[in-house]
Amino acid sequence: MNNITIAIDGFSSTGKSTLAKQLAKHLGYVYVDSGAMYRAVTYFAMQNKLVSENYLDKEGLIKKLPEIKLHFQFNPDLGFAEMYMNDVNIENEIRTIEVSRLVSKIAEISEVRAKLVEQQQAMGKNKAVVMDGRDIGTVVFPDAELKLFMTASAHTRAKRRHDELIEKGQHVSYEDVLQNVQERDYIDTHRDDSPLVKAHDAIEIDNSTLTKKEQFDLVLDLIYKFYY
Ligand code: C5P
Repeated sequence: MNNITIAIDGFSSTGKSTLAKQLAKHLGYVYVDSGAMYRAVTYFAMQNKLVSENYLDKEGLIKKLPEIKLHFQFNPDLGFAEMYMNDVNIENEIRTIEVSRLVSKIAEISEVRAKLVEQQQAMGKNKAVVMDGRDIGTVVFPDAELKLFMTASAHTRAKRRHDELIEKGQHVSYEDVLQNVQERDYIDTHRDDSPLVKAHDAIEIDNSTLTKKEQFDLVLDLIYKFYY
């Protein structure tokens, strides 16, 4: 069996990471959540007062980028790798609605993207990797054997993200989550550098009406039919 690279792109909260984790576990591949890396840089910028709702010190952040060391560490209890910044576990800190509100602004900065894309490519150099994000099939791994592009209605996505946040004990309204999902989609698809687009050779999966298991089975079928 040849190891392959699996690139999963799509809008916010389309279940990319759920599918990526299932695939990585089943195939024994490494899972990389590229969004966590953009969230980590955003968290750093917030801690250093370089970004807020109506402020961004882009040059200040670019200057400080060399101070940010990111790595993932597998947590066997959770079954996936958690995000560390400068050796501190920041997995919870990067999942807040405050980070979600600011992350797309940070992800527009070309210098941030260049730094993270370089690290992502290094993580995938031996294949056997499932990476999810917005530009994985177009920029990070344009030669990936399997590219998936995930979509679902904004309502379905906001409901999923809202349920997740409530489960984690974060008190946010459904309307706020819906607004955040729509705003991020807009910025992510309209930015100049590496906007979210479907790669010409990506397979589109609309999972509005699919269960997690149905979606997983469908993709696994594809993999065994065409790539193994
Ligand atoms: O995947 P997640 O929703 O956690 O990503 C957070 C944000 O990071 C996205 O809304 C997008 O702005 C940015 N991102 C990106 N490119 C990636 C992954 C995430 O621009 N490959």
